[in-house]
Amino acid sequence: MIDREHAPTIPVPSSSVAVRGASAAPVTTRDAIAREEAWGAHNYHPLDLVIAEARGAWVTDVEGRRYLDCLSAYSAVNQGHCHPRLLQTLVDQASRVTLTSRAFRNDQLGGFCEELAQLCGMEMVLPMNTGAEAVETAIKAARRWGYRTRQIPDGEAQIIAFEHNFHGRTTTIVGFSSEPAYREQFGPFAPGFVLLPFGDIEAVRRAMTANTCAVLIEPIQCEAGVLLPPAGFLRALSALCAERGVLLMADEIQTGLGRTGALFACDHDDVVPDLYILGKALSGGFYPVSAVVARREVLGVFDPGSHGSTFGGNPLGCAVAREALRVLRDERLIERSATEGAWLLEQLRTLRHPAIAAVRGRGLMCAIELTVAARPFCEALQKRGVLCKETHGTVIRLSPPLVVERRDLEWAVAQLRAVFHDAVGT
Ligand SMILES: *Cc1c(COP(=O)(O)O)cnc(C)c1O
Repeated sequence: MIDREHAPTIPVPSSSVAVRGASAAPVTTRDAIAREEAWGAHNYHPLDLVIAEARGAWVTDVEGRRYLDCLSAYSAVNQGHCHPRLLQTLVDQASRVTLTSRAFRNDQLGGFCEELAQLCGMEMVLPMNTGAEAVETAIKAARRWGYRTRQIPDGEAQIIAFEHNFHGRTTTIVGFSSEPAYREQFGPFAPGFVLLPFGDIEAVRRAMTANTCAVLIEPIQCEAGVLLPPAGFLRALSALCAERGVLLMADEIQTGLGRTGALFACDHDDVVPDLYILGKALSGGFYPVSAVVARREVLGVFDPGSHGSTFGGNPLGCAVAREALRVLRDERLIERSATEGAWLLEQLRTLRHPAIAAVRGRGLMCAIELTVAARPFCEALQKRGVLCKETHGTVIRLSPPLVVERRDLEWAVAQLRAVFHDAVGT
């Protein structure tokens, strides 16, 4: 049951009351799911609700039920769903020019690169579209940098990554995943990656060779279950990389841009990596925009013809991303993430249930680890109007949009309490 009194915090425009499909017949949950199952590839296992519209931290399904979104499209909608300023920017830019390709220049790309580089304290930006493409870009940059500046023999560069990583779904990237489901029967895989336990600095020290060009790390492993590195690990890793002349590449696609209560998750450890890899919230959920941000010495290895993307750096994406970054600042979303996240974590720590093994988080990236499957709990929460998705089987991740109101979080905590209370006897 949804608490109607608390549910709608943001008015739903009256123009969008009736939700209609292409056939003009109203779409029902049953019908939408049946069609998707019949015609779509089954590479996901979504919760069975069909979202028709969304605003801020709330979404509405085709039957008009409202839910508090506690996933935020894996932190892509940190700015909240359908942010009015992003919507306006998208419409304005879409009515001028959307795509030029990089064969010609456009009037948004330069400003986007300048603003993003300055935000990151870096010198250069290479724009792409999806997160996985930005990770691929970082891999290419690191290898070429290694051949040119470290005289690693061509074809022998090695990159260190960590067990339980999640960096995307391309064949190169899943090749160095430790998750069997991501890899099974997708090989052969690209060589040149070494996988080490997350948080083991001595293992990194031992694994580094003259051919190691980079270390690729998520400063918090979100998909793996919101795993924070041991205290001091990121700093030690950063120092070790500097000492050995190895690039530290921080995949902040999910943790970056305010999610953890700081601009970057690396900030919590006072670590500045050599490359930031960004995506998801970079465009506030409107449009896929990703980027690698680094010093000139690193991204300068690309010359014309060495890398590219038809849509990368397009004016529509750049305009939306520039506005998405301004919204982060203007609405103080990073500060909100820190204060609301600290409050939420404190509340989660008061939950009592024998299946709760741990509660952890940073900013509005929180998680409840269970000793049992998390899916039934996510389904029970869905029935109560709270949307979250299990990750790694036993972890409930809670990462609402950073615009979420305190009273919405209070309401969500009440639903969590009820779900765990109901589950006691079962
Ligand atoms: C989501 C994610 C990616 C992949 O991004 P896509 O846009 O799905 O390709 C890579 N790294 C991390 C840490 C992510 O969370």
